[in-house]
Amino acid sequence: MRRAVIVGGSLGGINAALWLRDIGWDVEVLERSASPLEGRGAGIVLHPATARYLVDHGVADLTQISAPVDWLRYLGADATVLSQTSCRFRFTSWTTLYRFLLGCFDRSRYRMGTEVAAVEVERGAATVTTVSGERIGGDLVVAADGVSSTVRSRLLPDVAPRYAGYVGWRGTVGEEQLSTDTFRALHEAITYHLMPASHILAYPIPNVDGTVTPGRRQFNWVWYRNIAEGAPIDDLMTGADGRRHPLSLPPGMVQTHHVDELRTAAKHLPGPLGEIVTETAEPFVQLIVDVAVPRMVVGRVCILGDAAFALRPHAAVGTAKAAEDAWQLARALESNTGDLDGALANWEDKQLRLGGQVAARTCDAGNRSQFDGTWQVGEPLPFGLYEVGDSAFGPP
Ligand SMILES: Cc1cc2nc3c(=O)[nH]c(=O)nc-3n(C[C@H](O)[C@H](O)[C@H](O)COP(=O)(O)OP(=O)(O)OC[C@H]3O[C@@H](n4cnc5c(N)ncnc54)[C@H](O)[C@@H]3O)c2cc1C
Repeated sequence: MRRAVIVGGSLGGINAALWLRDIGWDVEVLERSASPLEGRGAGIVLHPATARYLVDHGVADLTQISAPVDWLRYLGADATVLSQTSCRFRFTSWTTLYRFLLGCFDRSRYRMGTEVAAVEVERGAATVTTVSGERIGGDLVVAADGVSSTVRSRLLPDVAPRYAGYVGWRGTVGEEQLSTDTFRALHEAITYHLMPASHILAYPIPNVDGTVTPGRRQFNWVWYRNIAEGAPIDDLMTGADGRRHPLSLPPGMVQTHHVDELRTAAKHLPGPLGEIVTETAEPFVQLIVDVAVPRMVVGRVCILGDAAFALRPHAAVGTAKAAEDAWQLARALESNTGDLDGALANWEDKQLRLGGQVAARTCDAGNRSQFDGTWQVGEPLPFGLYEVGDSAFGPP
């Protein structure tokens, strides 16, 4: 039996584990975090690729894992609706996907508190070494260890995240905490508000317990704000623990004076959007970065998901691309069992092309909204993996 070692047990890693297991591989997942990852995420725009494993296997249908909206709305500064068009996007949460996907996997093969420190590429195999010195090898190592990938940094040391010049402030708030007017203004829509060098969006997602009933869900918001490199970004990314965090500050870790500044600035947002920001107990911050690898296969190591291409969030397909990379990997390996290296080369060719195309589209969307000021009120959203629009769902 072929054996795969998967580094990273988030959505990319679990998807890879499930699809490889299902084609008959012996799979082990090594996840750095020792504590449960559940409950740490916020909102995700669902894409057919993201939901594929759960839907194809009858584990959950779309109505159990996501909330639909009917409208894409752009609000003006005074909260009037400047544009409203119908849309068929569905929204989920990182926690919902993680919980359902992990539920499909054998927990004894999902090792938490296991951090990979090094990787060796051998002839026809690869081996990782954990921080505790354990060596674990297989026919294939799958690096699904995210934006700051250790495996990538060992094999492709020239690739590093590049700061895009802005951050995403994020948060979630329970719908029941909102005023009636705000709930009415936001609950059926994905809502955007464009500002000079900034924009904010909000959409409903399942509650932490999975509830998707309107009125009992959460609102997820993301507010993109430009912050200069150097002292300003260093100060923002220095957490309440006094440490400069490289890429994100989780809920509760942002210094109080930055949260206060955010809440003050939120007074200038359209009322309903201002309210969801100020009502959020612990807003958190994510640096927007670009990562793009020139190769996704090095010997018997393949690099997927955010470890390969960290996409700016504007096309809303980071998770979809990770899931697609994983699914395509299993399809490639399944169709070419005798020639693993040939199968990996085919996979790499396809996924590099996809990653490059979607990365260019997300960069363009970010630059147009944050720097060029050319994102117009009423524009259709650039959501999509292979092409704009393929994130939409028909009626469930
Ligand atoms: C807890 C959590 C919450 C998230 N919440 C959201 C969200 O709300 N919205 C959103 O759009 N995206 C969220 N993301 C990011 C999202 O999952 C990714 O952008 C996308 O799904 C691609 O996933 P990935 O598996 O490639 O990378 P990631 O999701 O970044 O996962 C990488 C995984 O690898 C593990 N890891 C890193 N280094 C090592 C190592 N050396 N050894 C072993 N394991 C390692 C990490 O702990 C992590 O679990 C979240 C990620 C995590 C980990």
